[in-house]
Amino acid sequence: MIRLRNWLWCHAAVLVLTFATVGICRPNGEADDESVRFAPAAGTDDRCTAEERRKIEEAIPAEGIVAPAKPRRLLVFDLNVGYPGPPTRFPGQVYPAHVDARGHRSIGHANVAFTLMGRRTGAFETVVSRDPEVFRPANLKQFDAVCFNNTVGNPFDDASLRQNLIEFVRDGGGLMGIHGASLTFTDWSKGCQDTWPEFGVMLGARGANHRDYRERVFIKVEDPGHPLTRIFGGAGFEYSSEFFRYSDPYSRNQVRVLLSIDTEKTDLSGRKPERSDNDYALAWVRSYGRGRVFYSAIGHGAEIFWDAKMLQFYLGAIQFVLGDLAAPTTPSAELTPAIRGQEKGGQPPVQ
Ligand SMILES: [Zn+2]
Repeated sequence: MIRLRNWLWCHAAVLVLTFATVGICRPNGEADDESVRFAPAAGTDDRCTAEERRKIEEAIPAEGIVAPAKPRRLLVFDLNVGYPGPPTRFPGQVYPAHVDARGHRSIGHANVAFTLMGRRTGAFETVVSRDPEVFRPANLKQFDAVCFNNTVGNPFDDASLRQNLIEFVRDGGGLMGIHGASLTFTDWSKGCQDTWPEFGVMLGARGANHRDYRERVFIKVEDPGHPLTRIFGGAGFEYSSEFFRYSDPYSRNQVRVLLSIDTEKTDLSGRKPERSDNDYALAWVRSYGRGRVFYSAIGHGAEIFWDAKMLQFYLGAIQFVLGDLAAPTTPSAELTPAIRGQEKGGQPPVQ
């Protein structure tokens, strides 16, 4: 009996060891040994019609804002999970024009616009993927920046993939978020419950409270001399879209606000203010470790991606996160006349 028990224990130990070895070695081995290739994006997307693609082609800038220091690659990750739910949620059980079962339709338009923009300007190459495997280290190292394109929902739970993304940005990579990216790594079916708070910290905000998706606001250019907002010439402008109001960890102590809702020129009556400080940032940059982060709320509708001004704005943002366009990220709340003076004197180039 004792012999049998020893035999069983011994074999159980071997089995445990075998599984532990496979579990520990296999994923690392694959990630380190194989360099998975992700093909450049085709420049088409079934959500973007031929007519819409033509409008995008007409609007995209012909030249980069700066020449790239080396060939650059932008990874556009566009996996939407759970939003907007089944069509039965909507009147007539059909999706309204701006969404389908895969989320915002404008995901397709941003994919096309960024792909064509990189190609025409020669500033970068775009790869579009919705496969979480792109976040393995061997795959991520093929890119200079990752763009989360309207990625509402929880794309993956794998802790090692999440850690790889943190390390990619912290160690000098770029991170960009468009519109619904503020709800990435949340569970949309559970009231946008946060599944990974560090992503919100990296990005600079959480939340997506909004009014009508055609809300008309006056946008204030907060930082007219900033390399990313120069395109607007310092003047504010009226714009119509779905504008989010953010919650923690949004703070001017953490981000450099570029655009915001001008509360003096926009009629926000009719509802009680969504934030007690009345601070409605719409786009910002920040640093995360040695990494460069950009986020913009403006990305709900397809038409944004054939708006020449907005495409120029996004081109600057992309060249910033890729590491070519130097731009200051000192948080808005820390800006003093002395720091402004230093910034005007020229920033050290980003790596
Ligand atoms: Zn939206």
